[in-house]
Amino acid sequence: MSRRAEILAEMGLAPVWVLRDKKKPPLEKTWIELKQAVPACTACGLHKSRTQTVFGVGDEQADWMLIGEAPGAEEDRVGEPFVGQAGRLLDNMLAAIGLGRSENVYIANVLKCRPPGNRNPEPGEVEKCSPHLRAQIGLIAPKLIVAMGRFAAQTLLDTDASIASLRGRVHACAGVPLIVTYHPAYLLRNLPDKAKAWEDLVFARKTMAGL
Ligand code: URA
Repeated sequence: MSRRAEILAEMGLAPVWVLRDKKKPPLEKTWIELKQAVPACTACGLHKSRTQTVFGVGDEQADWMLIGEAPGAEEDRVGEPFVGQAGRLLDNMLAAIGLGRSENVYIANVLKCRPPGNRNPEPGEVEKCSPHLRAQIGLIAPKLIVAMGRFAAQTLLDTDASIASLRGRVHACAGVPLIVTYHPAYLLRNLPDKAKAWEDLVFARKTMAGL
């Protein structure tokens, strides 16, 4: 069984092909289902205020998966994660380690809908939306996840621990190595912590090189 299939199976997402078809896993079909399910989702109240869902963007076979919190106003309008000011910083951070947003990188959020007024996601919203993200992780089967900010880190690691205490170590989510760093929007407000985020990215790049 491939690593991708193992991760899917571990997540209870084992598609029939794992058992039945040894030749051509119809991952495309599962992607299509997920891409239909997310825009149609009404599992929490956020569907009432969203302009559109923000599914995720990038290389569906990427080694790197970056996960943020939730779409903001700009993302809700455009339908793509991290297109606002925080996104521009993220693009620069990626470029600094030789990556681009669609080259071997996939970017998604914990929530697929914008919380109104950019309030924090509520626990019930995170719980209802998590299956979408977990399915994306299973389909992409990245080599490394970078969780950006408290919500992504705490959700993916199922912990209440602070970013400060989670940084600098390799964790695991659904069998995928995971590194924690600050959220780009936080860095825009706390410029001195940019140096720490740079350390995290260097650590992530080094970790990836050993995977
Ligand atoms: N902040 C996030 O966490 N995600 C986005 O897509 C934009 C801003």
